[in-house]
Amino acid sequence: MSEDLGPSPLAAGERNLSVQEARAAITRSLVPLPRRESTPVALHEAVGRVLAADVVSPIDVPAHDNSAMDGYAFAGGALAGGGPVVLRAAGAVYAGRPFAARVAGGQCVRIMTGAVMPEGTDTVVPLELAQVQGSPDQGEVRIAAGTIRPGENRRKRGEDLAAGKPALRAGRVLRPADVGLAASLGLTAVPVMRPLKVAIFSTGDEVVAPGAPLPPGCIYDSNRYALAAAVRRLGMEAIDLGLVRDDRAALAAVVERALGEADVVITSGGVSAGDADYTRDVLAAHGDVSFWKVAMRPGRPFAFGPLRRPPGAGAVDAAGKPAQGAAARTGDTSWLFALPGNPVAALVTFYAFVREALLVLAAATPEPLPQLSARSTAAIRKRPGRTEFQRAIVEPATEAAGGAPGWQVRLSGSQGAGVLRSMSEANALVVLGHEQGSVAAGEPVTVWLFEGLV
Ligand code: AMP
Ligand code: MG
Repeated sequence: MSEDLGPSPLAAGERNLSVQEARAAITRSLVPLPRRESTPVALHEAVGRVLAADVVSPIDVPAHDNSAMDGYAFAGGALAGGGPVVLRAAGAVYAGRPFAARVAGGQCVRIMTGAVMPEGTDTVVPLELAQVQGSPDQGEVRIAAGTIRPGENRRKRGEDLAAGKPALRAGRVLRPADVGLAASLGLTAVPVMRPLKVAIFSTGDEVVAPGAPLPPGCIYDSNRYALAAAVRRLGMEAIDLGLVRDDRAALAAVVERALGEADVVITSGGVSAGDADYTRDVLAAHGDVSFWKVAMRPGRPFAFGPLRRPPGAGAVDAAGKPAQGAAARTGDTSWLFALPGNPVAALVTFYAFVREALLVLAAATPEPLPQLSARSTAAIRKRPGRTEFQRAIVEPATEAAGGAPGWQVRLSGSQGAGVLRSMSEANALVVLGHEQGSVAAGEPVTVWLFEGLV
């Protein structure tokens, strides 16, 4: 694939699109895969999985009115007079050990944070706002006028989450806090979707599998490994279909195998204008694939579309067993994403188009990409009319970048589309929009952070 900007004749059926148009076209086409069977998984296995159903809270959280502070609990009605209040301590109450007696008027109880509010109390004065004479648990407690209002420092039963209310919504990609939330409701397992199955293969006669000797003029296959890693990071199953020669029969065979096994097929290489036409023929025989030339760098050649799966492939019954009868005969759809061969272009295209599409297909609710604005430490040359993704390192702003707080960003070395090292060193992509021109040193640019992206 050449990265120059000269005009190149479009092959039959190829369309010129901006990055935005390509993203919109993908979003319009996709529907979550219908195979939504779910299984319960233990909480320790749940992180990164897609929740298959709402998690409804079986309990009120908190389960009782309790104290938000270490202090003295009493009836707030005592504050009605407006003056200072003097109370007699009637004991102490600790978290996990409810107070046995009712607290009478004129009394208070020393209370620890999280302890259940004793009967007869609704207000807590923090320890540091109470003047205590005598023993902390039996003495006299004085609260100065205006220190506190009735009802303060009490956490109400069900205030965080009422029983019967959804705590987590279906489609959620579970994060550590979500797993903790499920545990806090007393649950030991949550229902999750079967992970999306993503078949990945590489193409190219010059591409050699790692581990084999490298003949002159050849290059090791990095795309299959990088793309499988990116897919696994999304909590999905990557199926490695290996390396395929530039040959019609070999391509047809691997596509058929992929369709038998996977919800999604990701290929790299072999989609540039000028690549053998059989790629189009083979894919056209299986579905409705569009070949695009996207105005982006790195990137450009990209093919996308639905492929028909053979009858029965992947069809399952409600219990997740291979389907029988009508359901098995229907067959269904796999989605193809054919990425450019250049290793950085393949990954950038994955982040720009494929990542979110996979989440949609997995019936996950995609979180917006983590983006921020950072000042470029140096000028960046850019031509309007295409979106450019530059590998970069984002760091807290230093004096040199103008002294203002915030983030600064510098490019991470050679930006050649084949140079994986600068991608590996980067922690972000600078994204220069379609219409944007060159950037001056100190100007803010949009940055996609890898953290969260992968
Ligand atoms: P293509 O898109 O097939 O024209 O490939 C563009 C460039 O990417 C060529 O220089 C290929 O050698 C290189 N390339 C293609 N596939 C891979 C791969 N799986 N791993 C590393 N480089 C690749
Ligand atoms: Mg190739």
